Amino acid sequence: MYDLVVVGAGIVGLASAREVLSRRPGLKVAVIDKEPRIAAHQTGHNSGVIHSGIYYAPGSLKARLCVTGSRELYAYCDERGIPTERCGKVIVATDPSELGRLRALHRRGLANGVPGLELIGPERLREIEPHCAGVAAIWSPVTGIVDYVQVAHHYALDIRDAGGEIHTGRELVGLRRLSDRIVLETTAGDLESARVITCAGLHADRVAALSGGAREPVIVPFRGDYWQLAPRARHLCRNLIYPVPDPSFPFLGVHATRRIGSGEVWLGPNAVLAFSREGYGRFQVRARDLAESLSHPGFRRLARRYWRTGALELWRDYSRRAFWRSVRRLLPPVELEDMVPGPSGVRAQALDPSGLLVDDFVVEAHDGRVLHVRNAPSPAATSSLAIARLVAERAAKVFGDSFREPG
Ligand SMILES: Cc1cc2nc3c(=O)[nH]c(=O)nc-3n(C[C@H](O)[C@H](O)[C@H](O)COP(=O)(O)OP(=O)(O)OC[C@H]3O[C@@H](n4cnc5c(N)ncnc54)[C@H](O)[C@@H]3O)c2cc1C
Repeated sequence: MYDLVVVGAGIVGLASAREVLSRRPGLKVAVIDKEPRIAAHQTGHNSGVIHSGIYYAPGSLKARLCVTGSRELYAYCDERGIPTERCGKVIVATDPSELGRLRALHRRGLANGVPGLELIGPERLREIEPHCAGVAAIWSPVTGIVDYVQVAHHYALDIRDAGGEIHTGRELVGLRRLSDRIVLETTAGDLESARVITCAGLHADRVAALSGGAREPVIVPFRGDYWQLAPRARHLCRNLIYPVPDPSFPFLGVHATRRIGSGEVWLGPNAVLAFSREGYGRFQVRARDLAESLSHPGFRRLARRYWRTGALELWRDYSRRAFWRSVRRLLPPVELEDMVPGPSGVRAQALDPSGLLVDDFVVEAHDGRVLHVRNAPSPAATSSLAIARLVAERAAKVFGDSFREPG
């Protein structure tokens, strides 16, 4: 019998288990994941950017936990010898019509306490990114890059060092609450635990429902496809180049990101409805996933509101030339032939019944025994250590004395 089972060995589940164990070293903790390896989904399919916290509504969990989380992540990686680069990033207005939004974003970043932000003109932009076109930009010197799979592996090591267990290849398929324990039915047999925390990413809603929690907010999967710059064109992007985002949409727009270690430059991701929650190919369809998205009233409202944006994104997904045009706005020297196919990722985005995308992180206590992380989209990888603290604090509050820090 465990004191705690965490469902999901992505970066959030691993960070949370690690944090609980560091507060209460004697607890018997296990993390389970349905995949044969940890970090198999969002944590292993992302841009690898350590965000600084510019974009998020002041006072929100995203804003607070990203600013502190990024600082903590750099410190953790330094301590563990995980390579990071504080290479900085530019957010570029390519047209005077974007200047108002760029300035508003700069004010937002300052309000969030992001260090070192500067509004810069075209000359300074050219010094930082010589091939980038823009009328003005925000320079964020603390934004950086890392490999989140490596970070997740180090969290897993910490868990094991503290006596915790990680069980891969174990899918949670049912959950029974008995008076004195919870029985987790998994594909590799039952486990018993006093308390459960779920961090199931793309399956957050289904796993919450399994344990008797509310089905809403549902998860809508948004796939993001990347192209890459061919090696001969990589010099066109030194570090990280982003557009001014559409404020009504939670995604950041097609950007250029240099990858740590390999020196690859990824272009993207875009954001289209994924036809399968863990489908990384454009033509991968899972009937249940697609039917659930399309039949949800909130999704239909969302689709009605954004049909134009959605149609354009879909067109850009299938048309290399349309994608190229978005890239060329930021990096005019990129030729169509410089773009080679890249990987893809699927974002878990919570949607409420009224059709609004849930913007902030959501950690919800189901009762005194189960806690759910229901929405942990970007920048949750950056913020993982800070989210973990929030989860551990909630656990201490709702799970009782054995989860409180001694003293
Ligand atoms: C394309 C893309 C780009 C991104 N870029 C960035 C970025 O640059 N910077 C950043 O900070 N964030 C970024 N993000 C967001 C970031 O990757 C996620 O916020 C973060 O990885 C979420 O971690 P997680 O642990 O919640 O989810 P996941 O990593 O998806 O982990 C959830 C785990 O739960 C497991 N699971 C699900 N159901 C069950 C079940 N029934 N039983 C057992 N296990 C189960 C899954 O197998 C999975 O391993 C990006 C995301 C995407 C998709």
